[in-house]
Amino acid sequence: METITIIGMGLIGSSLTRAIKQHNLANNLIAADISVDVCNIVVDLGIADVVTDDLGLSVQDADMVVIAVPVGAMAAVAKQIAPHLKEGAIVTDTGSVKIGVIEAIKPFLRSGIEFVPAHPIAGTEFSGPESGFAELFDGRWCVLTPLPETGIKAVEHVTKLWEACGSRVEIMDPKHHDLVLGITSHLPHLIAYTIVGTANELEDDIKSEVIKFSASGFRDFTRIAASDPTMWRDVFLHNKEAVLEILQRFSEDLTAVQRAIRKGDGEYLYQKFAETRAIRKEIIDQGQA
Ligand code: NAP
Repeated sequence: METITIIGMGLIGSSLTRAIKQHNLANNLIAADISVDVCNIVVDLGIADVVTDDLGLSVQDADMVVIAVPVGAMAAVAKQIAPHLKEGAIVTDTGSVKIGVIEAIKPFLRSGIEFVPAHPIAGTEFSGPESGFAELFDGRWCVLTPLPETGIKAVEHVTKLWEACGSRVEIMDPKHHDLVLGITSHLPHLIAYTIVGTANELEDDIKSEVIKFSASGFRDFTRIAASDPTMWRDVFLHNKEAVLEILQRFSEDLTAVQRAIRKGDGEYLYQKFAETRAIRKEIIDQGQA
């Protein structure tokens, strides 16, 4: 690509910018963010050719624009950049939710602009431009959810970008994406936020012991529950239907486990725990651990 613009210089946007730079995937790499402070940090990091807080200006020469802002800010960004996009430009995103992001961005794009919704399944609990690194996407999946009207060439370009950054690419229906990610990502975050929240409400003496002995399991939840609150608020508000559906199933399964404990049904518990162990092995076997 001649010119690629990345909007939103957080963990994902700055990691992608670094990866594009490292693999020399654009002659002109533009980084944009609404925050002047973030832009100044990106200038100091030296990861882009141009850094600007003027979103309209940032896209006017772009062959591809990647929107990497929180899901709740996607519509505002799309509205701001739409009049400045050049004919034939490809717009893509990194949002963790797909139906909500499509509804947020699509209405602002005129015909002649290609839209390829995308979600890199990679991340950490950190946010901001300093937390990014070029290898974040190595060996990780990136899911594309093109619309029926999306041109095949545009999908190919976005696929090539993610593959060049080390990802494996899968095409999926957006509704299916939201359900799958509801169980693999959104529900675990909700559980982690809730467990750590419950611990936080405990009396002071118990709370200090929880922190002291956290290595016994709690610690892993605290890592997930340290994730960016804005990002995760937006994910739950924009994937409401799928999350509530998965949460309902989870509640039923939890009730079954609760009943087994009450009744002393060791066989049920053993069977359930043995099945989940097998899933862990599969994840390791597929290199996703
Ligand atoms: P992040 O670290 O919080 O970065 C988001 C950046 O976007 C911040 O610099 C923020 O500036 C900026 N921003 C907010 N509103 C903006 C606007 N209207 N115009 C321009 N810039 C704006 O978030 P992230 O973790 O990189 O996530 C970015 C996107 O990728 C989200 O949609 C998220 O769902 C998705 N994603 C995240 C992960 C993950 O694990 N973190 C994984 C896959 C996909 P301020 O800080 O000043 O608000």
